[in-house]
Amino acid sequence: MRRSKKYSRQVRPLDTRALMGGVRYETGRDGTEYKVRHIRSGTKQYVCPGCNSTIAVGESHEVVWTEDTILGARFGVDARRHWHTSCWRHRGRA
Ligand SMILES: [Zn+2]
Repeated sequence: MRRSKKYSRQVRPLDTRALMGGVRYETGRDGTEYKVRHIRSGTKQYVCPGCNSTIAVGESHEVVWTEDTILGARFGVDARRHWHTSCWRHRGRA
């Protein structure tokens, strides 16, 4: 069996287009349209803005961002947040 020694490193450009797979749209109570993407298995540790606790590596969660900002779409993408799925669902409720 022959094995190719050639392999190409996967380089993923971090742009909006790359993030568009599996994105759904949700409108917040303030009327802002958010883009939400479900991450099945995170590769980094994040802090959830909903509960201020850690999202563990490998834990499924939601990435949320908006392109509807006064500073432009790029700012919104850069300011995206990682939420626990349940925290995102229950956000804004007392
Ligand atoms: Zn949380």
